[in-house]
Amino acid sequence: MKLKALPRPTSPHGGVKVFADYGGDLRTSAEVVVVGSGPGGAVVAKELAEAGRDVILLEEGPPFDTGDFVQEAGEAMQRVLREGGTRAARGNLVTPTMQAIALGGGSLINSAICARPPDWIFDKWADRTGVEGLDRDTLAPHFDRVEAFLGVSETPREVQGERNERFRMGCEAIGLNCEPIWRNVQGCLGSGECFTGCRNGAKRSTDVTYVPAAIAAGARVYTSVRVTELAIEGSRATGVRGRLVEPFNGTPHGEVHIDADMVVLAAGCMATPLILSRSGARNRWIGRDLRFHPGLAIMALFEDPIDPWKGATQGYHALDHLKEGLKYEVLWSPPAVLATRLPGLGHDYQKHLLSYDRLAPFDVICAADHSSGSVRRRPGSDEPDIKYDFDQRDVDIMRKGLGVLSDICWAAGAKAILPGLHDIPEIIHRRKDAECIREADLEANHTIAASNHAFCTTRMSHRPEDGVVDERGRCHEWDNVYISDTGNFAASPGVNPMLLCMALADRIALGIADRL
Ligand SMILES: Cc1cc2nc3c(=O)[nH]c(=O)nc-3n(C[C@H](O)[C@H](O)[C@H](O)COP(=O)(O)OP(=O)(O)OC[C@H]3O[C@@H](n4cnc5c(N)ncnc54)[C@H](O)[C@@H]3O)c2cc1C
Ligand code: SF4
Repeated sequence: MKLKALPRPTSPHGGVKVFADYGGDLRTSAEVVVVGSGPGGAVVAKELAEAGRDVILLEEGPPFDTGDFVQEAGEAMQRVLREGGTRAARGNLVTPTMQAIALGGGSLINSAICARPPDWIFDKWADRTGVEGLDRDTLAPHFDRVEAFLGVSETPREVQGERNERFRMGCEAIGLNCEPIWRNVQGCLGSGECFTGCRNGAKRSTDVTYVPAAIAAGARVYTSVRVTELAIEGSRATGVRGRLVEPFNGTPHGEVHIDADMVVLAAGCMATPLILSRSGARNRWIGRDLRFHPGLAIMALFEDPIDPWKGATQGYHALDHLKEGLKYEVLWSPPAVLATRLPGLGHDYQKHLLSYDRLAPFDVICAADHSSGSVRRRPGSDEPDIKYDFDQRDVDIMRKGLGVLSDICWAAGAKAILPGLHDIPEIIHRRKDAECIREADLEANHTIAASNHAFCTTRMSHRPEDGVVDERGRCHEWDNVYISDTGNFAASPGVNPMLLCMALADRIALGIADRL
């Protein structure tokens, strides 16, 4: 597929350096260099720049403006996602996992769900890695600051649309509390296009919020910069090294050489461990203990058209079973992505495609506290080698979640469901026949699970023996290296990770500002 060149960015990315701006190598210095402009990195860059620090923010991907987004999923994924959206973890199931390569990182293409984790999540962190002094109250001022800056608000009824409302009806009918999702959007039109980028400019992703604020406070922002390693002298980093790379094909060009007093790695939980290991880091937890929130969907098929493409991408969720590790959500994604999930061949498949206007995917995400994996360097490649195995205890929990999802679908008025599970009928027409989901001998490879929520590859711990960073995001190994991405989580957060990542980033930034 031939990709069109992006026009030179204009507002809101004024001041952002792009590939065309570089003549040769990029050599400069700053007080603090931040690697990665997603939720974890952009917050740190803005807060430190506003605290009067000389900050450089580096990002491998290009900036995207509203006019750059295309609805066709293949092209959109090719442009904005790592490995064109085909990245997957190998193990007892091949688990697709998506990470963005763009100014704004995952916030550019995510559903903008902002959820504060419950307090007991932090007890889990303390139990696993001895994390001290971190709880919902400690983080409350940081959540408040991030939410206020992004204008996080409840999804209003007017933009829910029939698909979301059916989910709500289904939850309420079976006695589950269903809440409108809080999101970082302003002026959402309910176009359901969050995954391919918000063409309406409503999503408050970090490229249009934190990054411009960082620039306004004096930060320098360079895109098309791939950081490969830290420059280390003794027990300290003296900067970062890398290459200038062409957007969309990653072809390396000039060298990048940035000296800095302080380095903050926020390249995401798949990339930060690779940078650390290339830099000679020895901590044994780097890249280990990868955690996912595996997600599974059941498609509800309704009698009449519900025009499921209308409405907020994800407008409601149900949190009643969070403690058991289950969160139910309504979902939407572009037709080409949904089509990969439809069963059947030939005319059967065509029939499902034709019922597209009557289909609604409802999904369950699982905390998966027993399953884990790893991220390592892939020989001969800059991409990570990702492994992940599902523990049967988590598969049993997922089966329970699927049973509840099925109940939600029927209670929402579905006339049939498409469970998407091997060894289970591909379409079920009666509620009582769906009990086979609860009774199934389900194993990981009977499911079609995917996960875009990934964490713990540089996990937080009180002692260096148990993890990579301390409670303030500082590397146990190197005094002036910090990490600010979801790799820091000490265990699964149970809820969507972006807001927690940003609250931690806000805390990390204030901690660094105090030290400088
Ligand atoms: C489709 C999708 C939907 C999602 N929906 C939600 C949601 O609604 N709510 C929610 O809470 N979470 C959601 N998530 C998850 C959420 O987006 C991520 O958890 C979040 O973006 C992680 O933030 P981060 O800063 O850790 O990493 P990232 O967002 O991945 O940012 C890392 C940045 O670093 C850059 N980078 C990587 N390597 C290098 C390098 N070597 N040199 C320079 N730069 C580099 C990357 O290009 C990227 O921009 C979703 C994710 C996806 C993919
Ligand atoms: S639902 Fe549509 S308008 Fe609303 S934030 Fe997502 S892409 Fe933008």
